[in-house]
Amino acid sequence: MLGDVANVEEMPVSILNKFRNQYRSDLLLDHLEKNHGGRILGITKEDMYTEGLNFIFGQAKMKGRVAIVSICRLDPTFFHQTKDDGLFESRIVKETIHEVGHVLGLSHCNNRGCVMNFSNTVGEVDKKTKYLCDMCKLQLGL
Ligand SMILES: [Zn+2]
Ligand SMILES: [Zn+2]
Repeated sequence: MLGDVANVEEMPVSILNKFRNQYRSDLLLDHLEKNHGGRILGITKEDMYTEGLNFIFGQAKMKGRVAIVSICRLDPTFFHQTKDDGLFESRIVKETIHEVGHVLGLSHCNNRGCVMNFSNTVGEVDKKTKYLCDMCKLQLGL
């Protein structure tokens, strides 16, 4: 069952890196998994990173039951661009579908337009669509 509960929770202070002012995404996944049953999608406006990466838009446990998205850097105003709620929302939708795709077992896809294509920048998020390509659909039996 998907989306039967919506909760607002505080970010655990223990996973905040005060020097970077960023939260550790892998530890947040563990935290959510430990504290909730069922499938969990966490969405935060806080900035997140994981070891070896400056930041992440989202992370998921492959074929697991938890996924998280940080909307922080998806907001055009983060990069001092004009406020654009439509663009902001479309980026959130794409990255959320992308992480849910990982939970369902999909890996990164080489098809440029596919939502499972890896995005390292917002420019790359903007280039892809919010849809799965035929290959990814096939993998999910769609
Ligand atoms: Zn990914
Ligand atoms: Zn694909």
